[in-house]
Amino acid sequence: MGAPDHRPPLVRIRGLDKHYGPTQVLHSVDLDVFAGEVVAIVGPSGSGKSTLCRCINRLDSTTAGSIVVDGAPLPEEGSELRRLRAEVGMVFQSFNLFAHLTVVQNLMLAPVKVRGIRLEEARERAYGLLERVGLADKAYAYPRHLSGGQQQRVAIARALAMEPKLLLFDEPTSALDPEMVREVLGVMTQLALDGMTMIVVTHEMGFARQVADRVVFMDGGRILRTAPPEEFFTAPGHPRAEAFLATLP
Ligand code: ADP
Ligand code: MG
Repeated sequence: MGAPDHRPPLVRIRGLDKHYGPTQVLHSVDLDVFAGEVVAIVGPSGSGKSTLCRCINRLDSTTAGSIVVDGAPLPEEGSELRRLRAEVGMVFQSFNLFAHLTVVQNLMLAPVKVRGIRLEEARERAYGLLERVGLADKAYAYPRHLSGGQQQRVAIARALAMEPKLLLFDEPTSALDPEMVREVLGVMTQLALDGMTMIVVTHEMGFARQVADRVVFMDGGRILRTAPPEEFFTAPGHPRAEAFLATLP
């Protein structure tokens, strides 16, 4: 968990607009994320948090503005796009594991297919990552035989298998029962301590408070507030942020 320094940010977003048809869902979003930082994005449903993540990972196109990841503007298509996807990992609410592959195969697929890593090396790395998320004993299980929390930890390990520079999490614990939320947040906290750069869309305010370096509050497709967590949670600084925090349990 590093503080911003004078190096250029790993992610620099400027004046980002996004429309779906006639509807504008992102309005002039500016955001810098520095290497080693954990940025929590919070805000009400429909505020554009997922759309922003999808734009950063180029799962969605943008209407205007720029997104620069590690010095390179986001590519539109082709091999550059594959390179970007390899550098920016994404973990979704719904796990999205390949159901017909075992856990270890889930982790090996992209490194072998996209990065061209040899099978044996990919397997070794997959075992190491499963160790790291506490699932070494599940290497040959199929996703359907795992709990939701275990599936999400596999999804995190799968993202890590590509050695991304940045990990995006879009509400990774929203589909989980409370005890599983804890195990997934535990893995994410350890990643943060290990220095991984992370953008985390979350409703887990405890996590945002304890692990994030900065909290970004979005509403209506705009970033209305960016602040260190202790500041954001004690003085939200915007009436909409205050109203949002008041709705939380
Ligand atoms: P959040 O993740 O904060 O809940 P989203 O990014 O999912 O918000 O959605 C932001 C806005 O964009 C919402 O009004 C939503 O209805 C709209 N939206 C999201 N995806 C699409 C889509 N594929 N087509 C049209 N509108 C969309
Ligand atoms: Mg969302």
